[in-house]
Amino acid sequence: MVYPVRTFRWKVVTALTALALMAACKGGAKPAADLIITNAEVWTGDTERPRAEGIAVVGERIVAVGSAADIEAWRGPQTRVIDAGGKLAIPGFNDAHVHFINGGRQLDEIDLKDAATPQEFARRIGERAKQTPSSEWILGGGWDEQGWDPPDLPTKELVDTVTPSTPVFVNRYDGHMALANSVALRLAGVTSKTPDPPGGTVVRDSQGNPTGILKDAAMGFVNKVIPPMTAELRLRAAKRALEHAASLGVTSLHDMNPSYADMALYMTLAENGELTARIYVSPMETEWADLARIGIRRAFGSPYLRLGAVKGYADGSLGSTTAYFFEPYTDAPHTRGLLSDEMQPVAAMRERLMKADQAGLQLCIHAIGDQGISTVLDIFEEIEKAHGARDRRLRIEHAQHVAPKDFDRFARLQVIASVQPYHAIDDGRWAEKRIGPERIKTTYAFRTFLDKKVRLALGTDWPVAPLNPLPALYAAITRATLDGKNPDGWVPEQKITLEEAMRSYTMGSAYAEFQEKDKGSIAPGKLADLVILAADIFSIPPAALRDVKVDTTIVGGRVVYTSTR
Ligand SMILES: [Zn+2]
Repeated sequence: MVYPVRTFRWKVVTALTALALMAACKGGAKPAADLIITNAEVWTGDTERPRAEGIAVVGERIVAVGSAADIEAWRGPQTRVIDAGGKLAIPGFNDAHVHFINGGRQLDEIDLKDAATPQEFARRIGERAKQTPSSEWILGGGWDEQGWDPPDLPTKELVDTVTPSTPVFVNRYDGHMALANSVALRLAGVTSKTPDPPGGTVVRDSQGNPTGILKDAAMGFVNKVIPPMTAELRLRAAKRALEHAASLGVTSLHDMNPSYADMALYMTLAENGELTARIYVSPMETEWADLARIGIRRAFGSPYLRLGAVKGYADGSLGSTTAYFFEPYTDAPHTRGLLSDEMQPVAAMRERLMKADQAGLQLCIHAIGDQGISTVLDIFEEIEKAHGARDRRLRIEHAQHVAPKDFDRFARLQVIASVQPYHAIDDGRWAEKRIGPERIKTTYAFRTFLDKKVRLALGTDWPVAPLNPLPALYAAITRATLDGKNPDGWVPEQKITLEEAMRSYTMGSAYAEFQEKDKGSIAPGKLADLVILAADIFSIPPAALRDVKVDTTIVGGRVVYTSTR
């Protein structure tokens, strides 16, 4: 169940909280709490007081964290009391990298993630076509040919017979390639004569005809002709996504590459008190000047909605062999991957990022291959040299395959590694075959990052991976690949502890959005974004972690989800 949060009252509520805190400090009569959580096993994430039994909240902020008796003192006649029944309470999860509207939309779209054979893939698309008016597109996907035998990419012929008049464009799960059927290729004007665009590939058969697979920038040919999302569909996607986040204990999220229409919708939802998660938006870096023109800088906004970051792409993905490496792919020796079209040439990207930095915007750059990452670090280094040291919190999104020489640069430049552990147990099934035994040693290198004092921000990249934080925590601490072939961990040297993973998913992500003073731990004065879990993740076997459910989610002192109450 989801309850609305009245965000427009936040200023009033903050003032009330300040009064309550002042009263408490002076030892005078303090107001009663609006909400107390009692009988809890509280993991605070706060080194001052790591554990507690209860939490008191006034308005949208925490006023006390302490023993049962400490919290009882805040109870008044109007206080809502949640008896946690001895369960674990934690700070809300903060997902540092999602594609929120896409995620919400995908909850409604065709799901091919577990289509175990090409026949099943075609069958599901055919089923969907029967229920879809022929003017509408079949979109979605999430397919993964690596689980098929043999692991060949699908072709348009596979689905053409079941979709004679319905355009189909379905993504691979990593979002870096997609399959178009013949109707979609025709609408997009893609033929054997279409040249590969910079940063993209039209996959062709032996006669030079498009097979239907379009990689990276080549997906633009089809994306251009897909009718824009209607306002109604966008609103439905946002609401589905917010409900989904609330049910999973995700109380904050960093939305990567939202469209301006998405951002406008968030503003409406914030105004109406309908945001049940706090959103930090990071539109495309190519649009930096729009924000700079009106003086918006990093983390500007209200507790529910902030802007001031921009997101760019340096390269592609490992699965699509488009992540950019110093050396060729082990299983595709003709290629080292591709720099993104924004990086053609690198100097153009450097110039834009320089200007965005000068304007005070935060930079979040997707980089996956070792040379892609290295090139972004070069740019970051030049930015710091040109504009001087400042608290920038530069971010590399994904930071998957790091050249050993670059860890020290990450640390020196204080670059945040915004990582998604679930990808590690997913890609871990086949990554070694793709890049060989040497490069995998510093792949998803969470341990090395922490040992080098590089800050991690955790997230999922939803809808590329599930939004659920529990499987992501499981991935970070077990590194047990999804195929069950590495029960003791894939590159086990890179495991991190649950405590470290939890800190990175709360405080680490809060720091990555300049909000560590307001979020990321359970402490007096902080926003009351709290989650009660159905099981104590610190005392169960690691293998059980991924199945743990959320009992209650609280955002700004309001219950936005409950499984039981
Ligand atoms: Zn992403």
